[in-house]
Amino acid sequence: MGGKTKYIFVTGGVVSSLGKGIAASSIGLLLKQRGLNVVLQKFDPYLNVDPGTMSPFQHGEVYVTDDGAETDLDLGHYERFIDRDLSQRSNVTTGQIYETVINREREGGYLGRTVQVVPHVTDEIKARIRLASENGENVDVVITEIGGTTGDIEGLPFLEAVRQFRLNHGREKCLNIHLTLVPYIKAARELKTKPTQHSVKALLEIGIQPDILICRTERPLNQDIRGKIALFCNVDIREVIEARDVPSIYQVPLQFRKEGLDDIICDKLHLTCPPPDMAEWERMVEKIYSMTESVEIAMCGKYVHLHDAYKSIVESFTHAGVANDVHVNVRWVDTEKVEQDGPETHLAGVQGVLVPGGFGDRGIEGKVMAVRYARENNIPFLGICLGLQVAVIEFARNVAGLKGANSSEFDQDSPHPVIDLMLEQRSRTMMGGTMRLGSYPCRITEGSLAHRLYGAFDTDERHRHRFEVNNAYRKALTDAGMVVSGVSPDGELVEMMELPDRPFFIGCQFHPELKSRPNRAHPLFKGLVGAAKVFKREHDTGQGEQSVIHGDDWREER
Ligand code: GLN
Repeated sequence: MGGKTKYIFVTGGVVSSLGKGIAASSIGLLLKQRGLNVVLQKFDPYLNVDPGTMSPFQHGEVYVTDDGAETDLDLGHYERFIDRDLSQRSNVTTGQIYETVINREREGGYLGRTVQVVPHVTDEIKARIRLASENGENVDVVITEIGGTTGDIEGLPFLEAVRQFRLNHGREKCLNIHLTLVPYIKAARELKTKPTQHSVKALLEIGIQPDILICRTERPLNQDIRGKIALFCNVDIREVIEARDVPSIYQVPLQFRKEGLDDIICDKLHLTCPPPDMAEWERMVEKIYSMTESVEIAMCGKYVHLHDAYKSIVESFTHAGVANDVHVNVRWVDTEKVEQDGPETHLAGVQGVLVPGGFGDRGIEGKVMAVRYARENNIPFLGICLGLQVAVIEFARNVAGLKGANSSEFDQDSPHPVIDLMLEQRSRTMMGGTMRLGSYPCRITEGSLAHRLYGAFDTDERHRHRFEVNNAYRKALTDAGMVVSGVSPDGELVEMMELPDRPFFIGCQFHPELKSRPNRAHPLFKGLVGAAKVFKREHDTGQGEQSVIHGDDWREER
């Protein structure tokens, strides 16, 4: 273990959805900008081995790392804030811990001892914390976010492990930061500190004294309130940090900086480093708040009632908006409704159409209709994963004349399975972790739109799918005008397709949203939003701008 590594544990109290992930990410960014080498990690207290088999309605988006781990969406925030590619070590679930412990028991690894939560499960949790710092580099700080809310039964082993970890590794090397809620009670016109006091009490019962409290609040915390929290929760007044609601999540690190949070952390962990360089980040946030122009892009999916299911896409729109100096307003379009009412009702007036990834046949025909509407009306279009597959199906049916074309995921008897199961997927019977997952190289076709957008012949992108464009139909499709603009290095897998006779129509088999960063918008998103801006100018109805800042609130809605 890196002897110099320091550890920060972020817990949450009172209620869920306070934005622990954003808080941990913001701390990570501030420390990184002070020159420290930072890794973030999330512990999820559920028994699923990973969220890969969970419904997006339950869990939100599944975030995929370069090394192919299917992880919690908070890892997306981590990567976007600290601009570092994380690995499977950064997301640990109770399911993984138990899997390891039980497998070790079956192998006889415990030499006949009774296997128990303490010490065996807690030992494994501690090993995973250390593992996060062992990535071949000198990691200065590991920030571990503990999922769930203090007081949850399933979170107890993690908190016990955190308590022991600090005891084992030295008090001065570890820090506990607790995120709580200070609600404003309208009738009393007062902020209330009691929930925070109770939640700290719950932590103290487990043996954890938080060093710093981050208090989510609608209103400013005055000195009286801060003093009261400090007194009852046994911390210094400057260790009570105000985290007021802000319109953009990207402002949170700047808020924390103003409150002196990173200075306190560095003092307490004896980290000597210069103040953070936040100039570029500040410029980005200023831009988010000052843009006046806007475009509207339709997100045509089936999980549209839970925006968390498309978290990274929404963030990628923000990044691409900053790059194009325009706000992106998302119109959430449920493709089952498109099937009922026709595309015009739901898509009229948008300047872009995005069909995101997905599984299962519900709403598929609505997606096909949305793609057709975009294609026929020259509306800028981006299809991601399932979105590419649907674009190929639409093109096959309506342009290439392949009647009944479909994906074998939705129609086993289609006369033209233009999308089919990948060869290596045919023999799989297990669901978890068996898709084509993680980063793979992609070769880009010279002279294509993709080539213009990327400005390169090669890229690496992250994947999560079982099906692919059926090579038996590649010729029929390209003869009809579709261009294959990205392929795997052996040429076998279609990674990107486009329609060169449209202003902007492109599909990708990978997930570009997983690699977009605040100051480095992904080329495909940047291209889509740029094309939407041009489309709007060309089709301007002369109506005034109505700009809305999206990504409005940094609370996670689960
Ligand atoms: N269901 C499709 C497949 O498995 C698409 C997956 C996705 O969009 N992530 O290939």
